[in-house]
Amino acid sequence: MKIAVVGLGAVGSQVYWNLSRIAGIEVHGFESAYVGHPFAGAGGESRLYRNLEADDLGYLPIIHRSQELWKELETKSGRQLRKLKGVLYVGKADSTQVSNSLLSATELDTPHEVLSTRDIADRFPQFKPRTDEVGLWDIEAGVISPELTITAAVGLGVANGGQLHEYARVDHLESRGNGVRLHTAGSISDFDRIVVACGGWTTQLVPDLRDFVVTKRLTSAWYPGTRDNALQGLPPFMRAAPRYCYGIPTADGKTVKLGLGFNDHHSTGNPNSVERSLSGEAARTEIERFHPIVTDFLPVLQPNPVRLNTYIESYTRTMHEYLRLHPDDPNIAILTGFSGHGFKISPAIGEAGAQLITKGRSHLNLDFLSRAAPLFDIEDIETGTTTHNPLTSTERA
Ligand SMILES: Cc1cc2nc3c(=O)[nH]c(=O)nc-3n(C[C@H](O)[C@H](O)[C@H](O)COP(=O)(O)OP(=O)(O)OC[C@H]3O[C@@H](n4cnc5c(N)ncnc54)[C@H](O)[C@@H]3O)c2cc1C
Repeated sequence: MKIAVVGLGAVGSQVYWNLSRIAGIEVHGFESAYVGHPFAGAGGESRLYRNLEADDLGYLPIIHRSQELWKELETKSGRQLRKLKGVLYVGKADSTQVSNSLLSATELDTPHEVLSTRDIADRFPQFKPRTDEVGLWDIEAGVISPELTITAAVGLGVANGGQLHEYARVDHLESRGNGVRLHTAGSISDFDRIVVACGGWTTQLVPDLRDFVVTKRLTSAWYPGTRDNALQGLPPFMRAAPRYCYGIPTADGKTVKLGLGFNDHHSTGNPNSVERSLSGEAARTEIERFHPIVTDFLPVLQPNPVRLNTYIESYTRTMHEYLRLHPDDPNIAILTGFSGHGFKISPAIGEAGAQLITKGRSHLNLDFLSRAAPLFDIEDIETGTTTHNPLTSTERA
């Protein structure tokens, strides 16, 4: 069977590797840029790897399977793809996120420590938590190298005989009953089946999804400390809504990369035309969104960043992944809407995607994904504007 994977980012690269391991499958990967590029949803050198699940305990089997596959990917590629030195999760003591995280720790036997507000301040003096906030120290969590992970997964796929087509943007899919015809600018090729894993570009190939999946431009901002060594000992962290934010210190200890929540991401109906290089007013607008983190939570940071970069991500209205066969063509599987949290679970999602396109369903129970309730509405599919999403909101002081 001949299968094409369209998009070799966080998820497509894992699907590609998994398909390359199945006897009798000829797998082709199509990537509009090059493997391991930083221009879509996976750039910026770091992603949080967390074991605690704050939002939906349905994810636990996916997290567990990912833990196994991450280790296998690292062993087989011979590369260190994650540095697991712990991640701090900060949330309100009486919040659902904190209680879910604790339940998930019990369920998966996840090593962790509960830190009081005082413990957080003593152990990590850079933070200024509020008195109603506690910390959960996720001991075996850490930081993923996203570009390296994608390169490693695709490399294993190629070593298994997979075909690779870089700088090959797929413009159009044509269902032909017993297969699918794939059109790029310079070629037409026929496949038995196709996996679409184009992240924020997925709705360009599957426009029917535009009332359920929305594309956002996300800004990452790298902040230095106010003095030498100010960031020494600062851990990677995530803070729960309503003051959602996260941060990952850079390996040299000189800056921390900060990120915001859904409502602060820039809406776009078209990832190809949205402004990606920020300067002037566009930079100021973005930087102002980060100010509350610096003033209220991490006062050891300088007020302005030294680097600003943008990325593209797809969000479903439920903030749960869309992993399904195309409603009109079962020869096409669509994997999208990773809603800001797809990297850590990408190995299990890649395996599930490979099972979905070859067998029609995954070994993992993914029913909870399609049962989840919508959290926001898409007001305008042309501009990608939405209503407020409470899940990862950043409250202003
Ligand atoms: C700033 C930021 C921070 C994040 N932080 C975390 C985190 O800490 N932890 C975590 O787990 N997750 C995190 N995420 C989420 C995670 O990175 C994404 O969920 C994940 O990258 C989505 O994977 P994807 O394969 O759907 O899309 P992508 O990784 O964007 O891959 C899509 C690929 O498809 C290619 N493509 C697009 N269109 C076409 C086409 N027509 N033809 C061929 N190729 C095409 C693109 O070039 C790209 O390579 C973050 C995301 C962002 C943007």
